Amino acid sequence: MLIHNARLITWGVPNQILEGQAVLIQDGKIVALGSEDQMLRDHPDEDKLDADGQYVMPGNICAHTHFYGAFARGMAIPGRPPRDFPEILRKLWWPLDKALGLEDVRYSTLVCLVDAIKHGTTTLIDHHASPNFIDGSLDVIAEEVDRAGLRAVLCYEVTDRDGKEKARAGIRENERFIRRCQVDQPADGRLAATFGLHASLTLSAETLDACRAALPGNTGFHIHVAEHEADEYDSLEKSDLRVVDRLQKHGILGERTIAAHAVHVDAREVEILAQSGTWVSHQPRSNMNNGVGVADVESILRAGVRMCLGNDGFSNAMWEEWKTAYLVHKVWNRDPRRMSGGAIVALAVENNAKLANMFFPEAPIGALTPGAHADLIFVDYHPTTPLNPGNLPWHILFGFHESMVTTTIVAGKVLMQNRTLLTLDEAEITARSRDLAPKVWQRYESFVPAD
Ligand SMILES: [Zn+2]
Repeated sequence: MLIHNARLITWGVPNQILEGQAVLIQDGKIVALGSEDQMLRDHPDEDKLDADGQYVMPGNICAHTHFYGAFARGMAIPGRPPRDFPEILRKLWWPLDKALGLEDVRYSTLVCLVDAIKHGTTTLIDHHASPNFIDGSLDVIAEEVDRAGLRAVLCYEVTDRDGKEKARAGIRENERFIRRCQVDQPADGRLAATFGLHASLTLSAETLDACRAALPGNTGFHIHVAEHEADEYDSLEKSDLRVVDRLQKHGILGERTIAAHAVHVDAREVEILAQSGTWVSHQPRSNMNNGVGVADVESILRAGVRMCLGNDGFSNAMWEEWKTAYLVHKVWNRDPRRMSGGAIVALAVENNAKLANMFFPEAPIGALTPGAHADLIFVDYHPTTPLNPGNLPWHILFGFHESMVTTTIVAGKVLMQNRTLLTLDEAEITARSRDLAPKVWQRYESFVPAD
């Protein structure tokens, strides 16, 4: 396939913006870039895709999300409003995940995948929970990711909060799915796996050790870390150690582990995250919504931690997450110099690409360069001021909207063209979800603890 009549944003090193270009894609990879005239002459027999002068750029990557949360939209929490994050877990997320069966997991996933394709997020790192449907849950999600044509990394969150048997089932599900990905390479290699853990505050020392013992080679964990002070207090009570120290002691950290949030880590914990090479993901929309505080992102980056950007189940519109990260650190620190556009690019572009590449190592990802995975989006943006590689982050922060994404391509396959979805039936998914959601809400209410 030859994409022509395109303005390219490469996100290469250095980043380039190239006008009047064409991109040749073969076997899911970018083979060549070049001037449109020359490329059209050189490849007369290739299928053509006219970008109509739009920007063509690498698809966005989400470092931490929850497909299982889609049915929470518009759902009422009974009783008085939760007063802090631990209450949000007990009154919202834990009873909701208990209410999910096979079909709910399938459609909750599909709702998120439609959202991702429409809004240009092409790689998603998911963290799944459905304690009344554990065995095979990751296969159901995988099947829909495959159908959608996206790229995803899946895991099941192990926790002790539903008892020992379900913790064991969670361990089995991670182990099984990781091995399946290693052996089968499902979805033509667009699926990868990691080992999910909920958070230190719902994991005993025995379960952490059992997870470490079950971890297949060359993989790591995906766990929430110090999202709220409660995680630190609980860890101190259980072990006399802060959360990161505790996870290090149990062998959970390392160069293949993702720690989501790190809002309440102290300086020594940041040092351990840096020394161990652990990835950390930042989710400012979720942190604001839960009222948990703001991670010290700039210091964590300066300490040498590879910090990424996720959405924690918020819309798969990653530029919204960019904008929130850009704004919240300024108001939190009361200093407009904080969290520059360059820092946002370090998280959302550079580090997210490196993280995704760890899971999909056969070719570069997140850059429009020859040899890279052909995961691309078309953006119908017409700048009213000069746009160049230096000021691109601010054009994205103040000018780009996900509604401008018109075409989404993953591994060289077109998933959406001119805003028409080609792999998923949005009307069917919407109708079926609206049918399933009220039943999920009903079951959810039966699991909500009394005030
Ligand atoms: Zn999360």
